[in-house]
Amino acid sequence: MYSKNDMDYIARVSAAVEASAPDVAAIMKKEFERQNSTVNLIASENFVSTAVMAAAGSWLTNKYSEGMVAKRYYSGCGVVDEIELLCRKKWLEVFGVSDTYHVNVQPHSGSQANFAAYTAVLKPGDTVLSMSLSDGGHLTHGSPANNSGKLYNFVHYSVTDEGVIDYDDLERKLDECSPKLVVCGASSYSRTIDFARIRALVDAHNAESGDNTLLMADIAHIAGLVVAGYHPTPFGVCDIVTCTTHKTLRGARGGLIFCKLELAGAVDKAVFPGTQGGPLQHIIAAKCVTAEECLKPEYKDYIRRVVENCAIMAQEFISMGYKVVAGGTDNHLFMLDLTDTGVSGLAAQLELEKRGIILNRNCVPGEKRSAYETSGVRIGTAPETTRGFGPDDFIKVAHRIDEAIKYLASKE
Ligand code: PLP
Repeated sequence: MYSKNDMDYIARVSAAVEASAPDVAAIMKKEFERQNSTVNLIASENFVSTAVMAAAGSWLTNKYSEGMVAKRYYSGCGVVDEIELLCRKKWLEVFGVSDTYHVNVQPHSGSQANFAAYTAVLKPGDTVLSMSLSDGGHLTHGSPANNSGKLYNFVHYSVTDEGVIDYDDLERKLDECSPKLVVCGASSYSRTIDFARIRALVDAHNAESGDNTLLMADIAHIAGLVVAGYHPTPFGVCDIVTCTTHKTLRGARGGLIFCKLELAGAVDKAVFPGTQGGPLQHIIAAKCVTAEECLKPEYKDYIRRVVENCAIMAQEFISMGYKVVAGGTDNHLFMLDLTDTGVSGLAAQLELEKRGIILNRNCVPGEKRSAYETSGVRIGTAPETTRGFGPDDFIKVAHRIDEAIKYLASKE
């Protein structure tokens, strides 16, 4: 995947680290080799361009810039103001919402983005309605182990027996618990999320109850599909949209918060000073490079291939007799439910790693095992599509996974 120029850059970075900290350079080299000698099916990862790596590893890390553009608490911020402003402009352009949404590009991660979004519109103890974690929701959507679950009163909607979002359950719970916020979006959900339908439910609830329930979409996973038109957009529909920049967007590790203009002040305050200190301007520069890359026509084609490869791979598992949660996929990931094989997600993950295939175990709807062991594995096609995998490659990997699962099942 790496060109000669990329390899020259990587060699220069390695030499610079080695000159100062050889032990660190040795570990970095090992990780480079691991990444390049294994198949990566982790749905939340990707391989970034050298331009993204270079911006993330640049001298912009030297600058402190607490506050917002033109309202900083340190001097010397005029230049980083330019990069943060450009980054904001580009991300609004990527999602086509330059006039209708505000964006804060400072969150250090998706979790930080979600926490700041909650801080902007909730008070401790407020009720939030989000997707059940075992059905696909993220840790930051109210896990009791996460501060979201400790600070706020999360109520969860589920999926149906077919594995798709149970919109009737969502509607019922919305009326029962009158939440301040509804969160849609997930970590391990392979079907299209009907943002417009959820908006209509929230609007109907608000009209009837007099509540002002807000709607937030966490599109950490599907952001790239939204950009490329392979998933309906939450923009124009949701009051707040959060995402990560390092999954399907294929960029620097970090988070973004978009909000309707009237929430801009509250969101900015919730990021700084609410939940973060100085922004990472080197990462903001890298996020800006990511946005430029997403605006290129090649990016749309990349996402098209991610989605096609995913559908083909999921279908191959179905043909081999596996249970794919929700019966297939509309996006960049799918979940294999291994319950019937007797093999745990943990055992599958460990065996596959021995065989050079990297993925993660995941709870499945109606999970019977612990969250540590799980009955499923999550499979994503974004990273290897970046490295040029096509349908035949993914089909071959599906058969290698099948061999490993059969091997484990034979030992049960
Ligand atoms: N939201 C969703 C839906 C996610 O899947 C993730 C990460 O996997 C996050 C938020 C958190 O992102 P981060 O790991 O950058 O904190």
